[in-house]
Amino acid sequence: MSLADLFPAITKRNEPLAPHTHLKIGGPAEFLLQPRSVEELRAVLATCQTQKLPVRMLGGGFNLLAQDDPIPGAVVRLTAPAFTTIEWDGKRITAGGGGQLFDLIAFSVRKGLAGLETLVGIRGTVGGSVRCNVGDRNGEIGLAVQRVTVLTDAGTVQVRTRDELTFTEHQSDLDEPVILTVEFELDRDDPAAVLKRMRKAWILRKGAEPFSFQHSARLFHNPAGKSAATLIDRAGLTKARVGGAELSERNANYVVAHPGTTAADILQLVDHVRDRVKERTGVSLERELHIW
Ligand SMILES: Cc1cc2nc3c(=O)[nH]c(=O)nc-3n(C[C@H](O)[C@H](O)[C@H](O)COP(=O)(O)OP(=O)(O)OC[C@H]3O[C@@H](n4cnc5c(N)ncnc54)[C@H](O)[C@@H]3O)c2cc1C
Repeated sequence: MSLADLFPAITKRNEPLAPHTHLKIGGPAEFLLQPRSVEELRAVLATCQTQKLPVRMLGGGFNLLAQDDPIPGAVVRLTAPAFTTIEWDGKRITAGGGGQLFDLIAFSVRKGLAGLETLVGIRGTVGGSVRCNVGDRNGEIGLAVQRVTVLTDAGTVQVRTRDELTFTEHQSDLDEPVILTVEFELDRDDPAAVLKRMRKAWILRKGAEPFSFQHSARLFHNPAGKSAATLIDRAGLTKARVGGAELSERNANYVVAHPGTTAADILQLVDHVRDRVKERTGVSLERELHIW
């Protein structure tokens, strides 16, 4: 029996992924599932393992390019309340992997807890943001992570503690299929001071990325001590374009997808930029954008 037969209440068959990604690009997922509980999610993973179906987790789709062809297997979203709760105990906050990063930041700032406020304006879910270790030179989310509860391929719940985790520039070594919850350890601070830092970070971030009405995504990791955007500009690629995919004039490390852009346009642009930057500056850029 297919996933749609086994989990009819939570499964959509041949669901287009474009509306679920910030680039608004992507072919249909064979099955899109939105489980209502951890138990249901475990049952989905177990079925996928038995049926040898690939499983992909979809967060906010802010760091994702879904290709134009159909995507086989299961795409899972953690939108149900069971996956979006926020709990608080002194300086510790535990957030569900499917919750919005913005809600977590707002919660921490309201409690006068410092450590996440400079991430304001980065969009995505808690799980996706921890997996991608989001941040900038003012701080990364991984610095505040104490413990991550994950589900393995076999559907086993495991806890990974801080000393077992490695966070590097916009990536982590979390490779289990599901980030269920994340516990953060934050610092007490004057709520007014935290709020002030959050407002400042918001203004700085919004000026350094594409306009919010544009369908966009970041392309490359910053090489150690360097800025990918500066290298791209230096390689003479400002506003480079393939089909409908164009580098943002506000920050060359972002692609903006104009109407009609295909995933193939973006992939070609990524290759073109990487080759040209290598040729002109000698630096090999590593792709940050996750591709399905
Ligand atoms: C305009 C714009 C500005 C941005 N600015 C920044 C910035 O300043 N700094 C920065 O670091 N990033 C930035 N980003 C990147 C992006 O916002 C983050 O990477 C984002 O937080 C990813 O979270 P998501 O939920 O959207 O993940 P998705 O894009 O949905 O997924 C990304 C990866 O995480 C995996 N994943 C998602 N949820 C889970 C889960 N629960 N368990 C396991 N794996 C999961 C997916 O399978 C995928 O591999 C920006 C992006 C855009 C479009």
